[in-house]
Amino acid sequence: MTPPTNIRVIIVGAGFAGLAAAIECTRKGHSVTLFEKSPSLDEITRVGDIISFDPNGARAFERWPGVIEQMEAIARQTSWLDLYHYQGRFVTRQSFAGEKAWGRRINGHRGQLHRIIYDHAVARGVDIRLGVRVEDYFETDGHEADSDNTSSNSVPEAGVVLAHGQRVSADVVIAAEGVRSRGRKIVLGFDENPKSSGYAVYRAWFPADRIRDNPMLSHLVADSVDTHQGFIGPDIHFLASTIRSATEVNWVFTHIDDGNIEESWQCPGKPAEALRYLDGDGDENNRWCPVVRELVKATPEGRLIDHKLVYRDPLPTFVSPGARICLIGDAAHPFLPTSIQGASQSIEDGVVLAACLERSGKGNIPRALRAYEKLRYERVHRAQAMGPVTRERWHKADWEEVWKKPEMIHLVREEWLLNFDAEKDVYERYEGVVVELESKSDGE
Ligand code: FAD
Repeated sequence: MTPPTNIRVIIVGAGFAGLAAAIECTRKGHSVTLFEKSPSLDEITRVGDIISFDPNGARAFERWPGVIEQMEAIARQTSWLDLYHYQGRFVTRQSFAGEKAWGRRINGHRGQLHRIIYDHAVARGVDIRLGVRVEDYFETDGHEADSDNTSSNSVPEAGVVLAHGQRVSADVVIAAEGVRSRGRKIVLGFDENPKSSGYAVYRAWFPADRIRDNPMLSHLVADSVDTHQGFIGPDIHFLASTIRSATEVNWVFTHIDDGNIEESWQCPGKPAEALRYLDGDGDENNRWCPVVRELVKATPEGRLIDHKLVYRDPLPTFVSPGARICLIGDAAHPFLPTSIQGASQSIEDGVVLAACLERSGKGNIPRALRAYEKLRYERVHRAQAMGPVTRERWHKADWEEVWKKPEMIHLVREEWLLNFDAEKDVYERYEGVVVELESKSDGE
């Protein structure tokens, strides 16, 4: 068992980023209190559908006893993606079998996977306080003015403000509250609103019984074998899977949107509205193929959400001025779904941060946070930039060229990104990064 470091960590948000950071912090001997505004686990896991972890994210799960095995039991059992032209003609099969050596891939229901991680965090003894909303953040440098205006020396710390102004402090605060993070204000020094990406995603998940007797769709559940396919058309891509021995169906499609980003994840969608995007502007020659349209029609009311894709420009920093508060996950770097990296990068953040704190020790928290930023910044933004590239490659495909060279529409799968062990990387690079950071600040 790892000896305690006596580092007190507050984490805000029990999404994948917050839970991964909490688990990794306990692995390294730090003590964690996690605040989550949702009042129950059901509330956190109720919404959502397919989520993907590539080998770089799933590697952490392998270090959490029993977790990867539970995940694999409910994950999609495919090692390929079949890609079609939107009017139904098969284009190419992209195989992921060659990536096996890089580690495991987990694609499954967000709520089900989330529950596995949450239960593991609880089993490890993480102190999770549900139903507690963090209203604000603070950090002190240890030289606070007393009421008589004389200076008093105390230990520098950071903390959060809860309802009724209750302040809770710690050695370090990790803001993992997603794309609408309040922690960004103290880090950036100003309020900054999310922008619309100009796209939204319809997302659905429902029992496969809805399609079993449909002659257009029954092949998707034949022999109880999972499937994974993508249909590529102008300004839209449609991805569908059957999962859990083809007993469940999931589909998502990204489409151009009006840019209103007020809606949250809970925004319900209507199959009839989604279908309108697929009718080729009323021209039968441009209509999406029957498989796609039938999948949308088969979706039960209440099982479709219309999720606006929020975008943020890369932040100049993930760390507050006193370097005791930092952002992780979507709070630091929201991803477009076409990057297929948002969830994996949020896991990497927690791994790296916990290991940096372990290396720095309680006496050097700012050093740990600055090293975390340095280790993560370039990598995460390189991964983020891949989202728009894949989207454009699909939405603006030159079909004359694609038919000659179908691999043109394969997902970009790069080894630097996927075959990566974030924990090992910290242990190899931490000392060098600290020397670099400290020599830079000496020179200023
Ligand atoms: P999030 O997943 O957004 O988690 C942030 C957490 O912080 C939430 O639990 C939130 O309740 C909590 N929180 C926010 N503000 C406060 C506060 N002030 N005080 C305390 N707690 C707070 N991605 C997919 O690819 N597929 C999906 O199906 C999918 N479904 C999603 C459903 C929901 C409800 C949410 C919130 C996100 C979903 N995502 C989905 C996004 C995906 O989970 C994230 O992109 C990625 O996992 C990074 O997660 P995160 O932990 O940084 O942020």
